[in-house]
Amino acid sequence: MGAVISLEKIFLNPLARRVEELSGQDLLACYQCGECSAGCPAAFAMDLLPSQVIRLLQLGQVEDVLKSATIWFCAACQACYARCPKGVDLSRIMEALRELAMERDGERLKYNQIPEEELDSFPQQAIIAGFRKYTL
Ligand code: SF4
Ligand code: SF4
Repeated sequence: MGAVISLEKIFLNPLARRVEELSGQDLLACYQCGECSAGCPAAFAMDLLPSQVIRLLQLGQVEDVLKSATIWFCAACQACYARCPKGVDLSRIMEALRELAMERDGERLKYNQIPEEELDSFPQQAIIAGFRKYTL
């Protein structure tokens, strides 16, 4: 009887599995069509395209993704999810990656380090959104 090769065992390392748990998404569902990257409004500022993020995760190169600026530039607009023929919600994957990065490196927004005069000029919505995105 021939051996059964499990793609999951080959491609998904423990950190990638954690991304799956946190995001509720199946990383191996992606077949690299590129629709997410083509429709992402923040792609121009990213160092890794959304489809590259998920490919690296499939290959277990989670550290490379955690170091990228892309996870912080994602605007959580879900345009990628709307375009994905496999129903992969990349915005949730990006959120899971931000969470992992902050667990390791600490929160990105230090409220008490924002100068008071600047604080007054920020729209309240921006501050709330900042807390949601840059703190655990
Ligand atoms: S949710 Fe993030 S990755 Fe997806 S299209 Fe919007 S900005 Fe791009
Ligand atoms: S649109 Fe979906 S299937 Fe296509 S590359 Fe992006 S995540 Fe993968």
